[in-house]
Amino acid sequence: MSNPTEQINEIKKLINQYNHQYYVLDEPSVPDAEYDRLMQALIALEQENPTLKTTDSPSQKVGGLALKAFTQVTHQLPMLSLDNVFDLADFNSFIKRNKERLHSNKALTLCAEPKLDGLAVSLRYEKGILVQAATRGDGAIGENITENIRTIKSIPLKLIGVLETDYPEVVEVRGEVFMPKASFEQLNEQAKKRGDKIFANPRNAAAGSLRQLDSKITAKRNLAFYAYSLGFVGNLQGDELTEEFFESSHYQRLCQIKLLGLPMCPEVRLLSNENESEAFYQNILSKRAALSYEIDGTVFKVDDINQQKRLGFVARAPRWAIAYKFPAQEELTTVEDVEFQV
Ligand code: NAD
Repeated sequence: MSNPTEQINEIKKLINQYNHQYYVLDEPSVPDAEYDRLMQALIALEQENPTLKTTDSPSQKVGGLALKAFTQVTHQLPMLSLDNVFDLADFNSFIKRNKERLHSNKALTLCAEPKLDGLAVSLRYEKGILVQAATRGDGAIGENITENIRTIKSIPLKLIGVLETDYPEVVEVRGEVFMPKASFEQLNEQAKKRGDKIFANPRNAAAGSLRQLDSKITAKRNLAFYAYSLGFVGNLQGDELTEEFFESSHYQRLCQIKLLGLPMCPEVRLLSNENESEAFYQNILSKRAALSYEIDGTVFKVDDINQQKRLGFVARAPRWAIAYKFPAQEELTTVEDVEFQV
């Protein structure tokens, strides 16, 4: 093909089209593996030709856009994405980079989590009461889906705590809304019987179910939720108070979030050494089919919050976390055979 500029423009055009179909319409037209291949190709071309890397490139942005049909929510703290690796060599480079940035030869304590295949939401509790829930959107602005979130049984409408002082005035909890495999199969079974279109995968079904204008439909869809991080924590005036209430370990924070009444994925582990990562990845991969929910990889996060702060962020993702993805299960042909529905 053509010169790098033309190649980059061609790939950007395709990725932007796929992003629109996936994030806005909830109707992907290619499998994730194909999308990931294109994104890797774009990143490689931009690395080889740094002057062609623009700030509006899809490699620099969080995919997604808030639908106008919902009221919009500006996230008090941005909701970012995750960088990906697909093999051990690239995972080891992630570790090496972070150790170099931390000027450390010591083992890295990591929080290891399954990569849940649903969609990210931010739940805002004020004085312990769920007051707002939003999708990630473009990372800065999401959709207000509070009424739909209220229909998910595992999400508490009130935090657990004897006294109001047990938690800060404002606690934002972030996590993944997903559709368990059994609910997904049941939903598609019913759709087939009615002659309706079926959903392509549980992620697509979860996104379509959550972004409904009628929360009665969402209520029938058996969605579930696992928390995986905090958003803004502080007082109603906007002063941040995270350190006062939460531990300085990501893993311990998840345990604290669980004590507040929010579900945490039971597979999450604290690894005392980065060398334990591959065994965690292989173990979760071997369990994948038996899990009641869909996952597409594992996520490793530098556990120490102070180290996370020192590492910081790049445009669309934190430097201290990586999604170590599983090999692709789907091929282009299998997805093209399926009709999609919102
Ligand atoms: P991502 O899905 O690769 O990673 C970020 C997301 O992972 C977070 O926003 C969160 O929702 C989720 N996540 C799951 N478990 C998590 C955990 N334990 N901790 C933190 N986050 C966790 O990134 P993305 O930007 O949401 O989407 C990009 C991916 O989506 C692509 O790699 C591709 O697989 C897919 N995609 C596919 C198409 C398509 O046309 N098929 C189009 C766009 C995107």
